[in-house]
Amino acid sequence: ACMPVITVDGPSGSGKGTVCRLLAEKLNWDVLDSGAIYRVLALAALHHQIAFDNEADLVPLAANLDVQFLVDSNTKKTRIILEGEDVSNTIRNEEVGAAASKIAALPRVREALLRRQRAFRSEHGLIADGRDMGTVVFPDAEIKIYLTASAEERARRRFLELNGKGLDVTLNGLLEDIKARDDRDMNRSVAPLVPAEDAIVLDTTELDAGQVFTQVMALLEDAV
Ligand code: C5P
Repeated sequence: ACMPVITVDGPSGSGKGTVCRLLAEKLNWDVLDSGAIYRVLALAALHHQIAFDNEADLVPLAANLDVQFLVDSNTKKTRIILEGEDVSNTIRNEEVGAAASKIAALPRVREALLRRQRAFRSEHGLIADGRDMGTVVFPDAEIKIYLTASAEERARRRFLELNGKGLDVTLNGLLEDIKARDDRDMNRSVAPLVPAEDAIVLDTTELDAGQVFTQVMALLEDAV
């Protein structure tokens, strides 16, 4: 059976999440939010008081992670359930994001999560959002997209988003967080954040979400 995949990789704040949601709606395909899996694992490690560099204990936690992604058929929103608890909002905070990027540097942890990610592939078609979707998880994907934007612009987007939710954040603090996370994601030994050789690279610094979506749709039409 044909199980088409479009991969969308890039650093945090590059606009991947929004583009993937819009693409999935337009094509009526499923979405894999692979970052959420790393975030859920980080939260589970916090709950179980396992250190973020304790690979020996994190590997079995990853392999047996009790997580469910429940898609509401009406709203299309996904609820993420960890060990029976709805953690959809909790996993989005900066502390969990930073912890996720530490855990994600461990090779055997990444390996333990591979099968779980590949299981999202379906006959419907899949939009895979992450850092290594095109390079490692779905190297045979039909279309690979890599989104980037300057760190300053990504910090500004994050600021608008979090400030809008009433969170007490500063632009400079977020810029520091983003640079630290980029450094970890790009310089790790396994599955570092790089565009796949056959990826189409799109710089979104000067584009809003609607413009990014329009450009990606045009790329898809050219590619098929
Ligand atoms: O995309 P998101 O910010 O939710 O991802 C959280 C962290 O998980 C990233 O900073 C990255 O370290 C890690 N991650 C990864 N590989 C992926 C997706 C996320 O290493 N495919």
